[in-house]
Amino acid sequence: MMEQDMQEILFTREEVTARIRDLAAQITRDYQGKSPAVIGILRGSFIFMADLVRELNLPLTLDFMSASSYGSGTVSSGLVDIKLDTSEPITGRDVLLVEDILDTGNTLSKLVAELKKRNPASIKLCVLLDKPDRRTQPIQADYVGFQIPDAFVVGCGLDFDQRYRQLPYIGVLKPEIYE
Ligand code: 5GP
Repeated sequence: MMEQDMQEILFTREEVTARIRDLAAQITRDYQGKSPAVIGILRGSFIFMADLVRELNLPLTLDFMSASSYGSGTVSSGLVDIKLDTSEPITGRDVLLVEDILDTGNTLSKLVAELKKRNPASIKLCVLLDKPDRRTQPIQADYVGFQIPDAFVVGCGLDFDQRYRQLPYIGVLKPEIYE
């Protein structure tokens, strides 16, 4: 599916599925006896979140947010603009934030700081992909599907110009697609 637009396929559908199953097993163990509030960050997280939660054997609740950050990423007090907030309060809840990719960390570090003000019992971060080389903020994910090098990837929820999100694999686009 649209494989002709890919320079390289980093992770096949089967590899992604297997890795998500492992992550879910680990999360299920870590949250034994708890009822986490799983919060997906739209839009990129929706496919990963759907795959992940169906493998979690926990009495969880699901919610969504979307946010964009503005101001310099180096200003730790920088603001985050919450475009869509959760439907349920998170006070006292064990929050598991689910995102497609952790890149510079700008948006997520601000969002986590904002959510901490609401006094959740705990807050952890789960990402399908992590690009540690690109990080400018002191944030790391508690659960990472795959670490990847600094390349622009699409698929499994990740887009280029709102396209390719539905691809069942993680691929690197051919440079001519950008031009
Ligand atoms: P950050 O605030 O960590 O720099 O930005 C993270 C956001 O940038 C992700 O949620 C995602 O939307 C976008 N992003 C970062 N790297 C990639 C990538 O390789 N591919 C795609 N499609 N989006 C990316």
